[in-house]
Amino acid sequence: MRSKQGIVANMEDVNRNQKKDIRLIGKFVEVYCAGKQHAAEHTQVVLPAGLGERSLCPECAAFLQYAVRKRLNCPLEAEKPTCKHCRIHCYDKTHREKVREIMSYSGRKLMMRGRLDYLWHYLF
Ligand code: SF4
Ligand SMILES: [Zn+2]
Repeated sequence: MRSKQGIVANMEDVNRNQKKDIRLIGKFVEVYCAGKQHAAEHTQVVLPAGLGERSLCPECAAFLQYAVRKRLNCPLEAEKPTCKHCRIHCYDKTHREKVREIMSYSGRKLMMRGRLDYLWHYLF
């Protein structure tokens, strides 16, 4: 049986922009994990605020949980730049390199599938 891992946040504490970004990063990580054929047994990552679940290998599951926690705790929420253009960059070096790899890989995949809508929202 697959395990489930959730990210705890109160529904009312998650604003519209956070939801949009969390939905987006979840999609990009899922496309990356499936495309790279990460074979380890998958975990269901339960996103906060009723944003659904993503089926991921343990490494991608851990990455997504990190990214969601960062997004929920963004210290620049009031001005919220795109993470790509952020003056702080709250991710550590390893996760920052990883998110770039994921966004670039999945961005290309989604573009090939004609999902140009995602590209307008590139996070990194
Ligand atoms: S990278 Fe910058 S904008 Fe993105 S979550 Fe971290 S502090 Fe906020
Ligand atoms: Zn994976």
